[in-house]
Amino acid sequence: MTPDLPPLRDVIARHGLAASKALGQNFLLDGQLLDRIAAIPGDLAGASVYEVGPGPGGLTRALLRAGATVTAVERDARCLPALAELGAAFPGKLKVIEDDALSIALPDVLPEGGHIASNLPYNVGTALLVQWLSGETWPPRWQSLTLMFQREVADRIVAQPGSSAYGRLSILGQWRSTARLAMPVHRSAFTPPPKVMSAVVHITPKPEPEGVSAKVMEQITAAAFGQRRKMLRQSLKSLPGALDALEACGIQGERRAETLSVEEFVALGRVLSSASGPQPR
Ligand code: SAM
Repeated sequence: MTPDLPPLRDVIARHGLAASKALGQNFLLDGQLLDRIAAIPGDLAGASVYEVGPGPGGLTRALLRAGATVTAVERDARCLPALAELGAAFPGKLKVIEDDALSIALPDVLPEGGHIASNLPYNVGTALLVQWLSGETWPPRWQSLTLMFQREVADRIVAQPGSSAYGRLSILGQWRSTARLAMPVHRSAFTPPPKVMSAVVHITPKPEPEGVSAKVMEQITAAAFGQRRKMLRQSLKSLPGALDALEACGIQGERRAETLSVEEFVALGRVLSSASGPQPR
């Protein structure tokens, strides 16, 4: 049975959790909205979830209500008493660690096959996503990512070629994952409301294309989008073997990075990975 919990507004008032801008604190208080976000990964009954930044525990409650066991990492010590109360309402189901999520090693907080869900703090959201998507080992230990970003960042993750949002994050999010915009969230849903709109992105791993190194993919996209207005024969010049790889893949050097499909980047990555591989620049 789901325990009765006090309204989040009361929890915030009782524990003096005035939102800190420096910690990217924009809280979600609407239980129905939080339940809808917790439903995005699918059935969580018996599942393990790692949550970054539980704050007063809004999304945490929804994940616990969905039947998950949650490990949460929160940097703001002020939130810990409120989270301890929540843990007492769901005995054995919530573990809270006071730390900076950027310094957390995933195996310490997430069993193989678990999910990651978070209303991410703006200042570290992209860095965490890059960590979770960049490993050489694939599939990753997570089964899904359900993450709230500023809308502009969410658009970049799911962008298609030809759009101005298409770039390094799109390739990172799509070359061995499926990324979709699961839910736009209006700024007024947050307390306090941020200046910009938000959206939840849902990402699941797919089989890694054979013979492609994640490091090489990162080097190609960094070079190609580092000078996105230039032709590829110019922007990729500094990457050893890249111009030959363009030719081997039948990709015209006059094209610009934002016109290449994810598959074309993968094809380039395969050719470069199969050679000795590019040297670090
Ligand atoms: N989950 C809550 C919700 O949905 O209402 C709070 C989300 S709020 C956008 C982001 C949370 O991340 C805050 O509680 C903040 O203190 C925490 N936070 C900020 N930087 C962090 C970091 N580097 N590591 C862990 N938590 C962090």
